[in-house]
Amino acid sequence: MPKTSPRVVIIGAGIVGANLADELAQLGWTNTLVIEQGPLTIPGGSTSHAPGLVFSSNGSKSMTEFAQYTIEKLTSLKDADGRGSFLPVGGLEIATTEDRLQDLHRRAGWNRSYGVEADVIDADECAKLFPMLNRDMVHGGLLTPGDGLALAAKGTQLVIERARAAGVEFRDRTTVTDIETTGGRVSAVICGDDRIPADIVVSCAGFWGPKIGEMVGTPIPLLPLGHQFAWTTEVPSLVGANELPAGAKRPILRYQDKDLYYREWGERIGIGSYAHRPMPVDLDTLQTYSPDEITSERMPSSLEFTPDDFAPEWEATKTLLPELAQTQIQRGFNGIFSFTPDGGSLVGQSRQVDGFFVAEAVWVTHGAGIARAVAELIAEGRSKTDLSGIDLNRFEDVQTTPDYVSETSQQNFVEIYDIIHPLQPRVSPR
Ligand SMILES: Cc1cc2nc3c(=O)[nH]c(=O)nc-3n(C[C@H](O)[C@H](O)[C@H](O)COP(=O)(O)OP(=O)(O)OC[C@H]3O[C@@H](n4cnc5c(N)ncnc54)[C@H](O)[C@@H]3O)c2cc1C
Repeated sequence: MPKTSPRVVIIGAGIVGANLADELAQLGWTNTLVIEQGPLTIPGGSTSHAPGLVFSSNGSKSMTEFAQYTIEKLTSLKDADGRGSFLPVGGLEIATTEDRLQDLHRRAGWNRSYGVEADVIDADECAKLFPMLNRDMVHGGLLTPGDGLALAAKGTQLVIERARAAGVEFRDRTTVTDIETTGGRVSAVICGDDRIPADIVVSCAGFWGPKIGEMVGTPIPLLPLGHQFAWTTEVPSLVGANELPAGAKRPILRYQDKDLYYREWGERIGIGSYAHRPMPVDLDTLQTYSPDEITSERMPSSLEFTPDDFAPEWEATKTLLPELAQTQIQRGFNGIFSFTPDGGSLVGQSRQVDGFFVAEAVWVTHGAGIARAVAELIAEGRSKTDLSGIDLNRFEDVQTTPDYVSETSQQNFVEIYDIIHPLQPRVSPR
């Protein structure tokens, strides 16, 4: 049967691109081709290694809705054994200062006002939920029972299968090298010697976004930054506690006073850190891999672990979770993902080129939700969820220049877990 919807080409098959193809198909738009440079089963972008913590509490109602939809959708994406792609272990953000505790009350208020269950609990309850905690350090915690772990890579594969069954085409091991425009509108995507006609092109290329934007003269104000994630060796109290290799039962845990977060990972603990120096990545010198070289431990979005950057955070971790003093860091990596001048995602149609859309700087947490909104935007002209806070075109021209993007995005990395007054002015650049 001929396909009647416009020809959409999506660049990138991470959680955002794959879900966008699926959401478009659900709206009846199946004339879609997804192009991915890596192998489809493990493309090698940020989704391929994401530890998958979903903390939905956010000052923005739209972002909270996107997270809620991601949870709902991943839960519904079941494998052959009937197991979904989300582990509902709950979320626990602990306070080790009174200021943080106050902020947690504020975050709980956001959640509740958006209809999401959230409670501030005392230190004893925190220790009951996460027995490894040094209870004496804890002033209280924010419990969000609906949060948990996204099995992002698995969910993405399941969504690809579903989109394929609906008629969407996926072409992997193929790199988009250029985009053709005619009369101010996209007309084709170029992959080496191949010209693929397109009415609409959507860049879901994650931190590679600025390279795609350059092809159509659209600035993509994001900075790829390294972010450390490490695993301990076996933890005595977790032996036999969880399914192996990566199961979890206890809540995902945030220790924002030290820029750290944790999740159970089978018999080990996975530790993420935003406490280290910002590590900007130059896309022009980023190591490239042929599709056959990509494995779960070797991929373009994963840089070598720098243990010295992690050393203070390892000490802080052993103070918060004393049992971990019996373990060591088994391995780690410096993963790459996107940061932006105001910390928000980049979503919408280019104001330079008609038919060129972007959905980038999107976390796993919001991946399926933002994909649905972009599908609505493309197929129905507007999204049901307010996108103004993440609109690609919200920046002044000066705010899309490389120096501005670099400085402000690094600042956002440093401040990611800080308690910031909503009206705090930017000190630099001004
Ligand atoms: C260490 C680490 C921990 C993280 N933890 C969490 C977490 O706990 N919770 C959370 O919500 N988020 C987390 N994130 C962030 C999250 O992983 C990303 O924001 C998310 O996966 C981005 O998805 P994406 O689909 O936009 O990009 P990607 O998954 O990077 O997909 C983009 C795809 O585009 C392809 N591509 C790029 N250029 C081209 C081209 N020219 N031609 C063809 N294909 C191309 C790439 O190969 C890639 O597969 C973490 C990130 C890191 C690095």
